[in-house]
Amino acid sequence: MKVTRNSPGTAQGPSGWFTGAAYIDSLAAPSGPSRLNASSVHFTPGARTAWHTHPNGQTICVTEGVGRAQGRGGPIEVIRPGDRVFFEPGEDHWHGAAPDRFMTHLSLVEVDDKGNSATWGAHVSDEEYAPSPKIEGA
Ligand code: MN
Repeated sequence: MKVTRNSPGTAQGPSGWFTGAAYIDSLAAPSGPSRLNASSVHFTPGARTAWHTHPNGQTICVTEGVGRAQGRGGPIEVIRPGDRVFFEPGEDHWHGAAPDRFMTHLSLVEVDDKGNSATWGAHVSDEEYAPSPKIEGA
């Protein structure tokens, strides 16, 4: 057992991976036989990831705020606290905050044999981000 006290290790997400400001708190990193890479990702309003894929898929769980997520070719979904989204291995997608809200989600991924957790593509343009999202129940 090892306790890691709340540390000042918050890191701003690289500009190549995000549009706008997002901050990452690492929760778990691959170690020994464990491939788990877990983090808490904090998006400022309007911030979102670039298009990307995960070699072994990804689960995100929203803990605060209101966000958006989209798989390539699918609708933009509104995601709220308690909502979980699973992205299939290799599924091209993005996730981020709503335009006028912060959003925080947990991210759970398993790295591949080379330790990679994601492959990054183009930024999500304002035109891709702007369309009105699907509203659950509307
Ligand atoms: Mn992802």
